[in-house]
Amino acid sequence: MKGIVLLGAPGAGKGTQAKLIAGRYSLPHISTGDILRSNIKEGTQLGRLAKSYIDEGRLVPDEVVVAIVRDRLAKPDCENGFLLDGFPRTTAQAEELDKFARVTHAVDIEVDPAEVVKRIAGRRMCRCGESYHISSHSSPYCDKCGAELYQRDDDKEETVAKRLEVYAEQTAPLIGYYRDKGVLFGVNGMKSVDEVFAQIAEVLDGND
Ligand code: AMP
Repeated sequence: MKGIVLLGAPGAGKGTQAKLIAGRYSLPHISTGDILRSNIKEGTQLGRLAKSYIDEGRLVPDEVVVAIVRDRLAKPDCENGFLLDGFPRTTAQAEELDKFARVTHAVDIEVDPAEVVKRIAGRRMCRCGESYHISSHSSPYCDKCGAELYQRDDDKEETVAKRLEVYAEQTAPLIGYYRDKGVLFGVNGMKSVDEVFAQIAEVLDGND
């Protein structure tokens, strides 16, 4: 059974790789960022709380995201494994996760900081869940559903700097956390989407 967490700075390609991994290994793709954004869109109480943090590039409190993930992992589709994207983001979240799930692979997608800024600045989203980069997709519309693409509010320059600072301070220490547990696998994220995925598949196929 695979319990996978994806690590890497904002813009490293976690969401893109998560979709490919979930497809190949038939795992539920659980993105705390997506869950929070859909709550914001629906105007739930959780969404209202999360919005104030997300808009400032800060992390939503640990207890809030831990509760979301605990509930989600209790669903039947997670019985045979799971893929977490964007969680954990702090050591406290990782410690909580260890109490209710077993992480078998922490895959760290390694990218240069300068590349991350470029990737985030050019990222465009669709409400159907697709995402694109303007360098390889110049149309303002989604290839899958035809809707107009938009830029995430927190992908705008003012917020990105804060998110990168938060990543370095609060999330990067997770690399050491999972290395100490013997489940850390680093992959070179500076390659093409397919090449990064090939490295991840090698890791996942080689270790159960
Ligand atoms: P993401 O889509 O993963 O980049 O997440 C977007 C934003 O949602 C982050 O900048 C945080 O404000 C919030 N968020 C997502 N996942 C978490 C988490 N595990 N812990 C705290 N905040 C989170």
